[in-house]
Amino acid sequence: MKHIGYITHSDCMIHDMGHFHPESPMRLQAIDTRLQAQGMMLDLTRMEAVPADLSVIERAHPRQYVHNIEQIGYDAMRGDLIPVDGDTSIGPGSLRAALLAAGAGCQAVDAIMAGSIDRAFCATRPPGHHAEKSLAMGFCLFNNVAIAALHAIEVYGLERVAIVDFDVHHGNGTVDIFRDDPRVMVCSSFQHPFYPNRHVEAQGDHLIMAPIDSGSDGLVYRKRVEKPFFDALDRFKPELVIVSAGFDGHAEDPLGELKLVEDDYRWLTTLINDIANRHADGRIVSILEGGYHLGALGRSVCAHLEMMLHD
Ligand SMILES: [Zn+2]
Repeated sequence: MKHIGYITHSDCMIHDMGHFHPESPMRLQAIDTRLQAQGMMLDLTRMEAVPADLSVIERAHPRQYVHNIEQIGYDAMRGDLIPVDGDTSIGPGSLRAALLAAGAGCQAVDAIMAGSIDRAFCATRPPGHHAEKSLAMGFCLFNNVAIAALHAIEVYGLERVAIVDFDVHHGNGTVDIFRDDPRVMVCSSFQHPFYPNRHVEAQGDHLIMAPIDSGSDGLVYRKRVEKPFFDALDRFKPELVIVSAGFDGHAEDPLGELKLVEDDYRWLTTLINDIANRHADGRIVSILEGGYHLGALGRSVCAHLEMMLHD
């Protein structure tokens, strides 16, 4: 059994974009409840997330952008909900939650590199993969997976880090940040055409894009990603695998239109494990992105963690 850190913080729930917003604090509650109900929490090492320093976030985003988000975050502490794009806003608890979400990934890298855990799952929000270098969008403020990858590269001298993004939406922000940085291989599967339709055409040996038709089930999905992703990852030989773990490709999800089920997340996780075991000493940092059906989200995270754990 692997030693898995479950990194979270109750303050990730104080980021609240309004009662009817799908990216709700209840998502973390749903994951927690399900893990407890399954008895899985006993096998995980619960770790309290610590906020990232701005300098750590500035590895992925320009200083001006980070300070702008910080300023809006402070302004919002007066009690307002300040919109930063059509579906993303910053409220009184948002800056604190965003710093914790960015910090959790770095903390996961630190604990794994120190050998105190083998792998980690960050149950944090806001998510991050839509956040481009200088653009907050799609419920995302800071790109948590990119910040974790750059932390591993700059602090531990890793030369090759892979990011596997199986959220139903394209990881446009992650592609934007690494499009000219071959130290990081980005593999993103996504419903297409679909939100956000940015940087989909990005080209490079280190950018592996798998657009999937709306309505596709797990069988179609598996065929579409198995060889492109995992052959490329095998050639790349990552020293660390980071996962943009979005579960909105689930058949029950209200936002996505793919038909994945828990077993598809088990299958994906097994292949990710194999790559990590072959090249990265088993090191995996998985960070929550989307997933908006509370029941399906809880079950899918359980399926994902089950495979990370019993490997
Ligand atoms: Zn998504």
